[in-house]
Amino acid sequence: MHCPFCGADDTKVIDSRLVAEGDAVRRRRECQSCGERFTTFETAELVMPRVIKRDGSREPFDEEKLKFGLTKALEKRPVSVDQIESALNHIKHRLRSTGERELPSLRVGEEVMTELRNLDPVAYVRFASVYRDFQDVSEFTKEILKLNTDPG
Ligand SMILES: [Zn+2]
Repeated sequence: MHCPFCGADDTKVIDSRLVAEGDAVRRRRECQSCGERFTTFETAELVMPRVIKRDGSREPFDEEKLKFGLTKALEKRPVSVDQIESALNHIKHRLRSTGERELPSLRVGEEVMTELRNLDPVAYVRFASVYRDFQDVSEFTKEILKLNTDPG
């Protein structure tokens, strides 16, 4: 880390502590050249990958849109708001842990379907029918058959 005062390369950490309930590290540094002290903060980068749409365009990950889609699919189903929130968190966690900066929208859809499949089979089929934008009936039937043979 360069010294912000004189630009020297060599700065030394003299104190390091957790702040913001452990979500950040605050460091006091001292420049070995000019002796000035300064503070840095380090936080984990929790940025969602951007979404690559079918037409190749990119858009920011839209959590609200995803939540709306989930809620819509789970309308009038015996699934609580807490369960939806937790499904949303699972999806975000898995997308982030890919370490990719961009992911195809299809990949996001797959994660959503994995969660819905565990939550509620009816919602799963609802969402799949919309999200996958089925080209023909056989593809849709395949999904339903998969559900019937695999209750999990
Ligand atoms: Zn300095």
